[in-house]
Amino acid sequence: MPDAGQRDDESPDGGDDRSDTVHPLLEIQRLDTETEQLRHRRANLPQRQDLSAIRAEQGEQQRQIDTVALQRIEVLTRQKRLEDEAAIIQAKADVDDNRLYSGEITAIRDLQALQDEIAGLRSRQGMLEERAIEALVEAEELSEQADSLEAQRKFNEERVTVLEAELASAEAAIDEQLAALSTARTESAAAAETAAVARYERMRETFGPSTAVPFDPSSGCGCPHQMPAVEVARIKRCTEGEVLDCAECGRLVLR
Ligand SMILES: [Zn+2]
Repeated sequence: MPDAGQRDDESPDGGDDRSDTVHPLLEIQRLDTETEQLRHRRANLPQRQDLSAIRAEQGEQQRQIDTVALQRIEVLTRQKRLEDEAAIIQAKADVDDNRLYSGEITAIRDLQALQDEIAGLRSRQGMLEERAIEALVEAEELSEQADSLEAQRKFNEERVTVLEAELASAEAAIDEQLAALSTARTESAAAAETAAVARYERMRETFGPSTAVPFDPSSGCGCPHQMPAVEVARIKRCTEGEVLDCAECGRLVLR
């Protein structure tokens, strides 16, 4: 497809200097292609992809934060229960201790039994206190995990803010270009035949950026089918600026 981008003559006047004249359909086609490329770029801006990756990460992070918080509550509840249980047993052992030294029990066998009971209670109390300390250590580890997850969450939040600003400015820059293209297209469409523009627009869905092609006497429309010599001769005889069909592929051939 010839690039007409550098030419500043937007309205063909049918004059004799053909090299300076761009067929309005070719100009419209060029503007449409550029518009499509910009829209594609706008939809696929890297910041958009980064943002969606971070948002997915944030979702997973929030789940981890919630899980750790819940685990910490469970561990602290367990620690409290173990401490309470240890305190009850300690109180029981203390009561027994007092009885042991009160002098109210005198039989050796009873004293021995009480001593055994106290030893059992103290051992159980010690075990419960140990498990309570383990739970406390576990809760501290979970707190550290929560802090680290919170720091990551904040980092990602800041990253999202930066990316959103970058995305907005990239979109605004593209939107400005799109608006300029749209204005230029309106001007080019005003210079072209309405029916030809409508035909081009219908066919663009099939042929995309090479819907309209300038006539080339050696290859016809440039499509894979060789244009018959008689057809080439026919188009050659047409007036410059005319919009014809390639009988082989259906593209618009611009004379
Ligand atoms: Zn063709």
